[in-house]
Amino acid sequence: MDNGPPPSYQEATGWDPNISANESTRAVTTEETLGRTSTHMLCPSCHAEILTTTITRAGVLTYVASYFICLFSFGLGCCLYPFFIDDCKVVHHYCPNCKESLGQSADLDLD
Ligand SMILES: [Zn+2]
Repeated sequence: MDNGPPPSYQEATGWDPNISANESTRAVTTEETLGRTSTHMLCPSCHAEILTTTITRAGVLTYVASYFICLFSFGLGCCLYPFFIDDCKVVHHYCPNCKESLGQSADLDLD
């Protein structure tokens, strides 16, 4: 089996695939990763200067943490703890003006 890359014409033309890949990644991102507290920003939807409304919801990490606590506590109910700990949850940011979703905090906050 020959899976080697075909003769590259990018090398001949001097086109750098790394630069292009970075630019397309940036363009695709629609929602920003925000902090865990209300953020002062310009709403991209209604263009008002706003302080974001935050809503805390269970994220992937909440369920993962719950699963592992369940494993090690033999199901004594401790697995529900992550649902009461805000640091295990995702903070969603909304515009108080137009209610547009503006982004969310990182799911896994290691600070
Ligand atoms: Zn808005």
